[in-house]
Amino acid sequence: MSSNIKKSILKLKESSTLVINEKSKDLINQGKKVYQFGFGQSPFPVPETIVESLKNHAHRKEYLPIQGLVKLREVISKYLLKKTGNNYPKENILITPGSKEAMLLMHIAFKGEIIIPAPGWVSYEPQAQIGSNKVHWLETKRSNNWFPTALELEKKIKKVGKKKNIIFILNSPNNPSGSVCNNLKEIAKVAKKYKLIVLSDEIYTDLTFKDEYNSISKFYSEFTFITGGLSKWCGAGGWRLGFLAVPPKLKSFLTSLKSLASESYSTVNTPTQYAAVEAYEGNYDEYKNKVKGILNAVGNYVYNNLKSNKVLIKPPQGAFYLMPEFKNTKFKNSSKLCEAILNETGVAMLPGSDFGFKPKRMLTRLSYTDFDGSKFYNNVKDYNSIDEDMIKEFAPSVVEGITRLSNWAKNL
Ligand code: PMP
Ligand code: GLU
Repeated sequence: MSSNIKKSILKLKESSTLVINEKSKDLINQGKKVYQFGFGQSPFPVPETIVESLKNHAHRKEYLPIQGLVKLREVISKYLLKKTGNNYPKENILITPGSKEAMLLMHIAFKGEIIIPAPGWVSYEPQAQIGSNKVHWLETKRSNNWFPTALELEKKIKKVGKKKNIIFILNSPNNPSGSVCNNLKEIAKVAKKYKLIVLSDEIYTDLTFKDEYNSISKFYSEFTFITGGLSKWCGAGGWRLGFLAVPPKLKSFLTSLKSLASESYSTVNTPTQYAAVEAYEGNYDEYKNKVKGILNAVGNYVYNNLKSNKVLIKPPQGAFYLMPEFKNTKFKNSSKLCEAILNETGVAMLPGSDFGFKPKRMLTRLSYTDFDGSKFYNNVKDYNSIDEDMIKEFAPSVVEGITRLSNWAKNL
């Protein structure tokens, strides 16, 4: 009996990232060997001083302001100034239970249409649907590093309608491609011309391997929202702490978002907000460099050992994903491809169709985080020279899974 559920909600499924995580764990519990390349979660420990701060604030049980702890908003504002050169004052920052919630609130408040480059993260489209905003996918090409060219974006805007309210979502480094956008300036120019609202999802920016990170807000600050949080760089996905920075010209959004926050989650849990002050105030460059060094080395290992005339793939630039494309397959769609790979090799991945690609394209997302991050982290002295022996020693499941996957692909 589902007649008492809204049609738009019935259409939704459980998010594929979380489903693959649970499915992999179920298979493991049944005694099967699964190479967990499906879910995207940092394997590294949260820095000890941040964990200490969380412990020290465990007794803080009072509710904090809806918008979040003032001190936390202050340090995030400083962090953004340093990173982007833009002033997002503390009054314009909203602390949320993960940046995912911040984006959802944006969709609920916003009236208009959404342009999402494919590949784009699995939750963008369902969130827009929850907010009753129409989605327009903009398929990108490998030749432009899996980001739209300025021309492609402009064409899409014209198709949607120049006069419409539009949010354009940009995510660099990108989940699922692992690529960094190298044409931000041109994209910003188009965004400015058509007064787009840009939702710059910067959850992976501190995991940009070669420090070539740039925020689109540098070129177009007027209407750019930024989201971020502790989930990726700090390894604290389960803590659920994110933020949204609102550009001063769009401050009116904040009022509505605060109302939505106050009527749903009230405010983010208090101890985590205090611990997040430490995360944004302290200097964690050494930690970040080590984490990036390891991810870069493991990502490159995967890239070098998987690429072939049967598997097209680009080298990693950030985050912890790669997006292999399989040639000469007999499968009906990328879901069937992933199913066969899981059954025949034990490697769990997600299909490209979950990220906005046409189901017929044999693209997949591979998350190369199936290793003991604490062990790897504690054994690395020089993060610039992580060799293959270390990868074999500290990321054996990645090595084994990639061997199985590349052998499987040879028979295509
Ligand atoms: N954006 C992207 C691209 C992601 O991969 C994730 C991962 N969960 C999020 C946003 C949301 O992160 P969180 O809610 O944990 O801040
Ligand atoms: N962002 C992670 C992923 O893409 C998982 C967490 C989530 O989807 O909320 O796998």
